[in-house]
Amino acid sequence: MAFVNENFLKLQKSYLFVEIAKRVEEFQKENPDTEIIRMGIGDVTLPLPQVCIHAMKKAVEEMGDPSTFRGYGPEQGYEFLREKIAKYDFNDRGVDISKDEIFVSDGAKCDTGNFQELFSNDAKVAIPDPVYPVYLDTNVMAGRSGDLVDGRYSNIKYLDCTYENNFIPDLPDEKVDLIYLCFPNNPTGATITKEELKKWIDYARENKAIILYDAAYEAFITDPNIPHSIYEVEGAKEVAVEFRSFSKTAGFTGVRCAYTVVPKKCFAYTKDGEKVSLHELWLRRQSTKFNGVSYIVQRGAEAIYSEEGKRQVKELVDYYLENAKNIKSAMKEAGFICVGGDNSPYVWVKGEMNSWDLFDLILKKCGVVCTPGAGFGRCGEGYIRLSAFNFKENVKKAMDRIKNAKLK
Ligand code: PLP
Repeated sequence: MAFVNENFLKLQKSYLFVEIAKRVEEFQKENPDTEIIRMGIGDVTLPLPQVCIHAMKKAVEEMGDPSTFRGYGPEQGYEFLREKIAKYDFNDRGVDISKDEIFVSDGAKCDTGNFQELFSNDAKVAIPDPVYPVYLDTNVMAGRSGDLVDGRYSNIKYLDCTYENNFIPDLPDEKVDLIYLCFPNNPTGATITKEELKKWIDYARENKAIILYDAAYEAFITDPNIPHSIYEVEGAKEVAVEFRSFSKTAGFTGVRCAYTVVPKKCFAYTKDGEKVSLHELWLRRQSTKFNGVSYIVQRGAEAIYSEEGKRQVKELVDYYLENAKNIKSAMKEAGFICVGGDNSPYVWVKGEMNSWDLFDLILKKCGVVCTPGAGFGRCGEGYIRLSAFNFKENVKKAMDRIKNAKLK
């Protein structure tokens, strides 16, 4: 008899987007003339930068010519891309990461989801709340979560991110082995300083823990005091793995390209205390289960590091940041307390009512769709997330409606 992995049965049903769709559909039926504006989307809306289009077209031509055709690529990704990543994303910022420490992949979702496979099943895992759900769900699937009791898994150490701690969690009050951090954060838009990150690195070093640092929204950082990479902080290379993505940086959500940095100095341990290189384990894991990102896509990603590419990417990011600024100032004007939105495409809005009630209020009075914060975890209750991934005109219309509706 084929028994299933019963850990999958412990996963919480994902009602969030289904429930949003249901409520929006009902509202549209009752108000067929209202043009609904969707401000909940976590997907980009602007097309790819032209440099990427040109590079990918050229790569397609190469694939059609026997002298330049390529089959399977190198497991870690083509050197031409890893070299550019190392230089422009790290070395030029004073961070010593080599091209050999970079693993190109088809998404930060897969990488943040898969990396936990390298660790023992009884590793104690610390996960922020509210959170991008992939970290939690993949640990549930792997059997590390324990049972669900009153909406929380018994073996997970939840790191509460609240208004009181500026949405930067406190260090765990017990020993943990794996720590997920995400800055700039989805969903809160919070960022972290080097000083605050240093505390986590010190904790990880003292406890021989590993930090899994998701920097998928790094491109939105404009404040020079905010680190773009965890490796800007001393000591991080021994205890941290960093995930990056071209999805939000360059509109690659549908093209698929990302990378993970696993420094050669980063070690975990066997039960006997023997040091094991995470770099070697991840290489082994990837070369067993993954056959790389297409040549065409890697050429597209490489193009963003040219002078023109950097300019076009900045234009994309600035467009969304301008939206975020407008959302934040309009919501403040409407009387709401907001965080995020300055170095992030997300604005996190405090409601003084529960998340779904605020969702309904904004939908019914303004025809605007947001994402209820409660869908990201217990600490998201009472908040909504507004996304800057939209067209400028839609953002303006939505914010005018919210300001005029006198919701408060
Ligand atoms: N990490 C975070 C925090 C995200 O919000 C997302 C996408 O929404 C991802 C990773 C996924 O990125 P990718 O498109 O590279 O899989």
